[in-house]
Amino acid sequence: MKLTDTHCHLDLEVFEKDRHAVIQQAFNAGVSKILIPALDGESSLKVASLSSSQPNLFAAIGYHPTEAGKWEKISAIQLREIWRELLRKHSDLSDQNHEEVDGKSLRPADLLKNNKSKDGSTKKIVAIGEIGLDYYWDSAPHDIQLVVLKQQLDLAGELNLPVILHSREKKDAEQGACMDDLLGLLENWKTDKAQGSKYPIEPAGVLHSFSGSLEAARRAIEMNFMIGVTGSITHRNANRHQGIIAALPLERLLIETDAPFQSPTPQRGKRNEPAFVRYIADKIAEIYMTTPEHVADITSENAARLFGWGG
Ligand SMILES: [Zn+2]
Repeated sequence: MKLTDTHCHLDLEVFEKDRHAVIQQAFNAGVSKILIPALDGESSLKVASLSSSQPNLFAAIGYHPTEAGKWEKISAIQLREIWRELLRKHSDLSDQNHEEVDGKSLRPADLLKNNKSKDGSTKKIVAIGEIGLDYYWDSAPHDIQLVVLKQQLDLAGELNLPVILHSREKKDAEQGACMDDLLGLLENWKTDKAQGSKYPIEPAGVLHSFSGSLEAARRAIEMNFMIGVTGSITHRNANRHQGIIAALPLERLLIETDAPFQSPTPQRGKRNEPAFVRYIADKIAEIYMTTPEHVADITSENAARLFGWGG
């Protein structure tokens, strides 16, 4: 079985003591790749360095909406620098190019031509994320959250990276202003991208830990986004959510633990781990009346396609 955990906060303090063992257990359990999203500037540095430490770890850099208050004018430049630094470290830029690479004048577009590493695998920073809107905690005013999100979407466009999107409604409602604002902004963003020749339409991204309506999922899929499924689908009271996921094409789903949060049944109450991603594959297999192996294969292919890493 070849599983992919597309969303796992391995950089957090809670994994400090046994991070290596947790990663090893995941690989032993059939997880072939883990994507670690960042929450702010400091965490972007940490996930970048973590992804650099092992071939099967990848990173996303960005500011989570609950951290939007930390975003400054210079933040986009700092994120771009982290991306550039890691790309240089893992890319095939030979020594004779070194002088040129060190020069500040080198444009991201030039680096993009060289984004394959020596062993043929792709870059380590594979997305901008997690970014989005959070009207549950409301840690920053909505207009600030929207500006911070927009600037990070623009960065993703510039670097040609997909985005990992978070959204959470006020009082965890099934639908509401948060998803409406998010989809509205994305529709404008995609339209802007399509009209100018500057940025390609693809890659789009994923609505991580999706819990919205079927209509919202379809709007997102229409814009070429994927839908991220977490352990919440395994819970006993998840009938509505299961029905929505069942109505979507498997080719549009990613599976993710969101560890250390959102532990799936039967591990509820424990710290979540990337190895537990298999419970989500099991549940989706049940819903789709297929095998967990098939779900693992297809969702891993979906992730490889979106994040541009080798299968
Ligand atoms: Zn997350």
